[in-house]
Amino acid sequence: MVRVRIAPSPTGEDLHIGNVYTALINFAFAKQNKGKFLIRIEDTDRTRLVSGSEERILDSLCWLGLAYDEGPDIGGPYAPYRQSDRLKIYKNYAEELVRVGAAYYCFCDTKTLEEMREIQQKRGEVPRYDQRCRSLKNEEIRQKLKHKTPYVIRLKVPQAGQTKFTDLIRGEITFENGLIDDQVLLKSDGFPTYHLGVVTDDHLMKITHIIRAEEWISSTPKHILIYKALGWELPFFAHLPLLRNPDHSKLSKRHNPVWLSWYREQGYLPEAILNYLALMGWAHPEAKEIFTLEEFIKKLKLEKIQTTGPVFDLQKLDWVNGVYLRQKPIRQLAKQIFEFYLKKYPEEKIAQILPLVVERMKKLTDFENFTDFFFKKPAVDPTLLLSGKTKEEVETPLNLFLFKIDKLKSWKKQDLEKEGRGVAKELSLKDGDFFMILRIALTGKTVTPPLFETMKVLGKTETLDRLQVSLGKIK
Ligand code: GLU
Repeated sequence: MVRVRIAPSPTGEDLHIGNVYTALINFAFAKQNKGKFLIRIEDTDRTRLVSGSEERILDSLCWLGLAYDEGPDIGGPYAPYRQSDRLKIYKNYAEELVRVGAAYYCFCDTKTLEEMREIQQKRGEVPRYDQRCRSLKNEEIRQKLKHKTPYVIRLKVPQAGQTKFTDLIRGEITFENGLIDDQVLLKSDGFPTYHLGVVTDDHLMKITHIIRAEEWISSTPKHILIYKALGWELPFFAHLPLLRNPDHSKLSKRHNPVWLSWYREQGYLPEAILNYLALMGWAHPEAKEIFTLEEFIKKLKLEKIQTTGPVFDLQKLDWVNGVYLRQKPIRQLAKQIFEFYLKKYPEEKIAQILPLVVERMKKLTDFENFTDFFFKKPAVDPTLLLSGKTKEEVETPLNLFLFKIDKLKSWKKQDLEKEGRGVAKELSLKDGDFFMILRIALTGKTVTPPLFETMKVLGKTETLDRLQVSLGKIK
């Protein structure tokens, strides 16, 4: 049975958008193959832990709809799913690797390692461990261990030969063993490094396919050496492309928000985020840009994913999100906005205003951006209202319009518009110029939903009141 996992480290604010991408592909692949998708928390780098990060990561996966079958909070047949709860296991395997001759004790202290690095750097070499503890005699090792000299356990990488694997996306990848560093597997604090932890857990948790980001390719030969030394069956590997900024640099905070929390707060919909991410490096066979997660699960072909870094373009995501917003029935979207703003605005009112702005909305927060003046009186700036005109040029048409609409028996968009155009004609103004005065007087803004529909929604009393207040401001 297919078993896949994501293994995020709780070292950031939330899920990184790159991790969301990895999670999506793993999830889709698991569902496509009727397999299991699990999450394991890799929290062995204690210096980089961010408190609350694990909870946010788990919560975000649920919000995205990428429900996992096994995980630290829900358990599963291979629990625990948090590495800091599995420390004993790693130590045993590190020692096992020493026993089978695939790893060794290293007693070099920080100072020695620093000096080593300095010398290598001066010589223009890539810094790496010079393997001096490889040749320690058994007796020396026994003595040091007896005297509790701090140690790490390192992988004994073969000096010659190659380590190869066939990546499901990239084909065969070959590494020269001679270029691979003798990686630390177990740290002096008893914690495993990523390499030992990941291999041990992927094996024990019966992971069949390791689908992860490109940045882990160079770690894979080290992992393969561990699998082989312990006589474990190799899983399949697939390395996904890294998402890029529009200038093709690695996706980073400077160009794009990277934490999922930002997208959530801005009002991007989970289904839109997933749809957009699905398009990274993959194209729908019928070139569709909008499709459901179910459809993606059916159509995804892992080996068809392109490896040339796909560009994560916020404007494109905005477009996709806008499409998703407009696909929803108004009632449903109104409810969602009501919940999004923690019930701050009445749901009925939202539903009434929404049709006026939904075409322009790209994310849920646009609702407030575009409609805040419906809910609170605008602070009209008299200079903006005058915009280079004389007091009379603004006052006269506003007064005339007020006089006319005050007499209206019913409050309909068509009647209001008729009066508006009538005033412009009577005073020989261009419709557009007069409507701009009205718009600013009513909302404080130059860009708003359609003017007369806005008046209709605001109601007679409120419209009259606002226009009068604005008139008062230019007195
Ligand atoms: N802990 C690694 C990370 O932070 C996991 C990499 C992998 O999937 O092997 O992404």
